[in-house]
Amino acid sequence: MAAPHTSTAPPTITCRDERFRLYLDRNRLQARIRELGQEISEAYAGKSPILISVLNGAFMFTADLMRAINIDCEIDFLKLSSYGAEKVSSGQVHELKKIDANVTDRHVIVVEDIVDTGLSMEFILNRLQQHNPASLRVATLLHKPASTEVDDLTLDYVGFEIDNLFVIGYGLDYGQLARNLPDIYILDEAEENHQNDA
Ligand code: 5GP
Repeated sequence: MAAPHTSTAPPTITCRDERFRLYLDRNRLQARIRELGQEISEAYAGKSPILISVLNGAFMFTADLMRAINIDCEIDFLKLSSYGAEKVSSGQVHELKKIDANVTDRHVIVVEDIVDTGLSMEFILNRLQQHNPASLRVATLLHKPASTEVDDLTLDYVGFEIDNLFVIGYGLDYGQLARNLPDIYILDEAEENHQNDA
């Protein structure tokens, strides 16, 4: 992969021999994250929420979101099993790292990079609910509504609703690569169709 450490985003990149096109550039991402930070700051004034960041993908979004929140807040991390090197969800969720913080009676915001099927988020919310938090909400940078299977999944803060295609960059990986890109890229549909025809 050509990792573009330039001040502007290249329109297309190749990662693991697949072509991706620019989808959300850094300026759009940062502007939207500032809005989300402002909304959260207003909603949680005086409540000192704890952000639970879902590793690995959400680390970059969490760092920027936290800097956009201008009230007292804390952070902790949990980790679930990932896609591995695949582009589709296995549908199987395991907890690889639990949170350390005590979230009983705390205002909890789960911070995710992307909600796809929604199975991971459902699993996380069920786990956290067992600790009786004072409140439990979700902030996700991206949501693919067309592939979300879980009914009644409330996503309180959503950065962008996106097409049902695989995305990389800004924390999101393809077989562990591409997390370092400052912009988000989406699998080139034309390329994908072409491969399916072959
Ligand atoms: P879900 O359980 O909602 O199907 O998937 C959640 C997790 O799958 C996300 O936290 C993320 O790690 C991964 N994921 C879902 N869609 C994508 C995608 O388009 N690109 C990447 N890189 N990861 C994704």
